[in-house]
Amino acid sequence: MAHHKLLKRQVTKHLGEQCTGNENFIRFIEAVNDSYHAFDRDKELSDHAFTVSQQEFDEINSRLKEEVEIRRFSVKKLKRTLSNIKTDNNEANIGNDDDLLEIVDMLNVEIARRKEAEHAMLIAKEEAEKASLAKSEFLSVVSHEIRTPLNAVIGMGHLLLKSNPRTDQVDNLKTLKTSADNLLVLINDILDFNKIEAGQLDLEEAPFSIKKLVNDIVSANNNGASERENTISVKFDEHLPDCFMGDSLRLGQVLNNLVSNAVKFTHKGAISIGVDLKELKSNSAIVVFSVEDTGVGIAKKNHIDIFLPFMQASTSITRQYGGTGLGLAITKRILNVLNSDIRVKSELGKGSKFYFALELATVESVSNELDENSTVEYDLQNKRILLVEDTLFNVLYATQLLEGWNAKVDVAENGAVAVEMLQNENCDLVLMDLQMPVMDGYTATLKIREFNKQIPIIALTASATSNVREKVIAVGMQDYVTKPFNPDDFFVKLKKHLS
Ligand code: ADP
Repeated sequence: MAHHKLLKRQVTKHLGEQCTGNENFIRFIEAVNDSYHAFDRDKELSDHAFTVSQQEFDEINSRLKEEVEIRRFSVKKLKRTLSNIKTDNNEANIGNDDDLLEIVDMLNVEIARRKEAEHAMLIAKEEAEKASLAKSEFLSVVSHEIRTPLNAVIGMGHLLLKSNPRTDQVDNLKTLKTSADNLLVLINDILDFNKIEAGQLDLEEAPFSIKKLVNDIVSANNNGASERENTISVKFDEHLPDCFMGDSLRLGQVLNNLVSNAVKFTHKGAISIGVDLKELKSNSAIVVFSVEDTGVGIAKKNHIDIFLPFMQASTSITRQYGGTGLGLAITKRILNVLNSDIRVKSELGKGSKFYFALELATVESVSNELDENSTVEYDLQNKRILLVEDTLFNVLYATQLLEGWNAKVDVAENGAVAVEMLQNENCDLVLMDLQMPVMDGYTATLKIREFNKQIPIIALTASATSNVREKVIAVGMQDYVTKPFNPDDFFVKLKKHLS
């Protein structure tokens, strides 16, 4: 190996020619030369190592600085965000940007304050629920008190109209009956709304014919329509099954609300009802119902408000058309309970279209009772009926109605009298008022069932509380009729339980 330049200089400077011939000396010089080179290599390596670690150190240092900066920024941001959740108006003391202690104190104060607020809210909620329950009970009691005399007014109107009144009396009687009917609709609407709001809407499941339901609604609205020179037409989808399972009463109520509104808000126009099949599944069908009119229409800005309780599109509506503004609120709520919703398309002056889709269970066929062609023959010849009722008006009305259908009527003025009468004599059916002095209808039924399990007992109730059905069935009655009863529905129920 060539001599290291430092060794070369030292050899030239300090050694003479005589040394270069000595073999031992030459080996010594070679060893020194190797050491010089090894030293250089080591130095080079350690210099390199130092440069590298300095670089790494700088990199780590700058990364740490960045991280500290990010942390400081995050803490600052966290503090600002947390200080925003304060519920009092005092300036938040959030300390310096590195420190979370003050914010922890602030959070503790805030948590305590929120717990207090939650507790206060819970008490307010309980009070509101109590008030709402009291309101429901009040409405139910008042409705009972109003329905009882109204039952007599409607019933007497009905009987007087049927008993060949003089021509000058007919108009007065019709006004009397229409006003009483309207009053009943109003009371029923308020009660229904109350019931739905309290989550007490009971849905019934029974087979029904969709065509019959819709055609009945058309018939019920035809008079009103022709008075306002309107026509009503219906179009059923040709593939639509006819027999469904569900609550036809509630569906009918929804459709009737829509059709009667269409008739009310249209003059010399056309109302078209559509029943379309959207999808047919193995055990159900999705049916789209629509009611369209060519009437006054509704401004876009009112499309949401009209579904709110007691809201009408304008203040002049009540003056011009009457109504309470409850119909659509009830319609919307019933449909919501049926997993559907009501939609509207309308423009002021250009008519309106209300529509909704409903999934209904399909059934094979509906019993003959609902046969479209069947005509009801109002005859209860030879049937003996025990009427258990304490209100004189109601006794008078029901007796005249039943005797008009050729039934034989016995009257018991309370439950105790009825039990005694049935122990001695038999009859075909019992009509049982629920609230009576001495012995109420529930107790009387329990006592009757101890010795007579067969006789059909139908409750007569003016109460509209949600669980009437469950309660009357629980004591052993078969059915119930809500007073004031519509003579046609009343007859159908009697006939059903008498046959
Ligand atoms: P009511 O009919 O008792 O006023 P509703 O809740 O049924 O109450 O209707 C609320 C409002 O919606 C009505 O007052 C009316 O302004 C508007 N409305 C409903 N149906 C129609 C319709 N077919 N055409 C025009 N306006 C309607």
